[in-house]
Amino acid sequence: MTSPSLSNLVRQPVLFGFDNSYARLPERFYSRTNPVPVAAPRLIKINVELAHKLGLNPEALASAEGIEILSGNQVATGSEPIALAYAGHQFGHFVPQLGDGRANLLGEVVGCDASRYDIQLKGSGPTPFSRRGDGRAALGPVLREYIVSEAMHSLGVPTTRALAAVTTGEEVFRESVLPGAVLTRVAASHLRVGTFQYFAARNDVEGLQILADYAIGRHYPEAAQAKQPYQTLLKSVVGRQARLIAQWTLLGFIHGVMNTDNSSIFGETIDYGPCAFMEAYDPDKVFSSIDRQGRYSYSNQPHAAHWNLTRLAEALLPILEQEAGSQEAALASAYEALETFATQYETTRLTGLRHKLGLFTEQEGDEALAQDLLDRMAANRADFTLTFRRLCDAAAQPHGDAGVRNLFADPAAFDAWAAGWRRRLEAEPLSGEARTAAMRLANPAFIPRNHVVEAALDAAIERQDFQPFEELLSVTSHPYEDRPHLERYATPARPEESVTQTFCGT
Ligand code: AMP
Ligand code: MG
Repeated sequence: MTSPSLSNLVRQPVLFGFDNSYARLPERFYSRTNPVPVAAPRLIKINVELAHKLGLNPEALASAEGIEILSGNQVATGSEPIALAYAGHQFGHFVPQLGDGRANLLGEVVGCDASRYDIQLKGSGPTPFSRRGDGRAALGPVLREYIVSEAMHSLGVPTTRALAAVTTGEEVFRESVLPGAVLTRVAASHLRVGTFQYFAARNDVEGLQILADYAIGRHYPEAAQAKQPYQTLLKSVVGRQARLIAQWTLLGFIHGVMNTDNSSIFGETIDYGPCAFMEAYDPDKVFSSIDRQGRYSYSNQPHAAHWNLTRLAEALLPILEQEAGSQEAALASAYEALETFATQYETTRLTGLRHKLGLFTEQEGDEALAQDLLDRMAANRADFTLTFRRLCDAAAQPHGDAGVRNLFADPAAFDAWAAGWRRRLEAEPLSGEARTAAMRLANPAFIPRNHVVEAALDAAIERQDFQPFEELLSVTSHPYEDRPHLERYATPARPEESVTQTFCGT
C-alpha cells in the first residue's frame, strides 16, 4: 500500500486499542511528551502484513487521519505519548542520561498473537532527552531501518519491525540538507540494558525493582515463579542475547553500535544505525565510520554482548543482593548467570553452522570442518551469503561445485575442503533433494546487500523514486526462495559498487 490516493478514498477511523502499561509506571520512568507536528506529511509505506498481525486496519493507517498520526501531527485516541528515560555505555563511556531524544512511545497494543507490542514514532521531534539533537530523522536512515529490520524478521531473527514510514515535508540538517522522515517502529518493548543502568546510576533501588518486576511481567513471566526471580531475569536476558548474536553471526550481520542503550532486554535486534551484512567474509569486518577501534566488529559481537550483559548484571546487583542475602552471594549469582552466555552462544552457532553445511546429525569434527571453510573463505575473500547458498547446490550433486568454487580467489582452496565435507555428508541420513531443501532454509539467497540498499536510498532521496525501495523490500521478504530473475539482488557488489563504510546519519 503505497498509493497516497488511497488516503483520500478511505474513511476508516484509526483504532489502535492502546493499553499503556509503561505509562502507568512512576513518572520518573519517562517524560510525557507529544510528538512535534511536521509541515507536510506524506505516506511512503504501510506494512500491511504487520498491521494485520497487530490487529490494525492498514487502510485506516493509510488514510488522511492515519498519516496525521504516523507523522506525529495528531495524537491517536488512547495514545499517551511518552519519551522513555534510559542511560547507556556508548563505546565504553557511561552516559547517565540518554533517553528517547527523538522518539515517542505512542502506546502499546496487544496483537492477534496475544503478545504486547510498543508502537513508537522515531524522528518525531525534540523531547526533554534531546540534548543537542534536533529530534528528527533523515529519510535515508528511516528507509534503511525499514529495509533491514524487515529483512531480519523475514530471515527469522528477533527484531523490532517497521509498521510505517512517512516523509515530513521538512528538511533536516546533517552533513548535508536531507528530507526528513518518521518511522513507526514496533518492538516487543523498548526496555534496554541502559534502562536498568539509568536507575542504578541514581541509586534508585526502588526504581530498579519496579523495572525488573515490569520486565519479568512483560517478557519472562516464568521468572516470577523461580526461587530467585531477578537472577532468572538476568539469565533469561543472557540467553536471549547470546542466541540473538549467534543468529547475527550466522548471517554475516554487523550491528555496528552495540552500546548498552541499543541492547534489548527482550533480545531483539534494535536501533539500526550503521548496520550492514558483510559480503566478502572477513571476521574483523567493521563498517561503521565511528567505530575506529573495531569495538563492534563482526567477530567482536559476542564479546560486546557479554560486556553489555555484565553491565546489566552490575546494575541489578542491589536487587540481586536482596534476593541472594549478601553482597558475595549477589556477585556469585550474577557470575553464574553471565557464565551461561558462552554455552548458549556456542550451541546456537554450532547448530546453525551444521545446518548451513547440510549436517543434521552431530559429529566431533563438525566445528573444525566449519571453521576450516570459514578460514578458507576469509583467505579467498569469498562472499559469505553466496558461498553458503551455493553450497546447497554443491550438496545436491558434485558438478554443482562450479558455482561455489568460483567465489574463491583460488578455487582449489574450496576443492580441498569440499573433499572432506563430502566424506562427512555420507554419514548423514538426509540426502538429495531433502537435504538441499533443508540447507536452503539455513542459507538465504537474499540479504539486503549494501550497494542495493544505498541505491534504493539514493533513488528515494534524490528522485523521490520509491520503486527500488519497494522492490528490495519485496525481494528480502522471501529470503530463502530462489528467484532466478532477481539474480542481481543475490550477487555481491562489483568493485566500483562496493560499500565499505556506513554512517549513523542521526
Ligand atoms: P542512537 O544512536 O540512535 O542509538 O541514539 C543514541 C542517543 O542519542 C539516544 O538517546 C537518542 O535519542 C539520541 N539521539 C540520536 N539522534 C538524535 C537526534 N537527531 N535528536 C535528538 N536525540 C538524538
Ligand atoms: Mg539507540
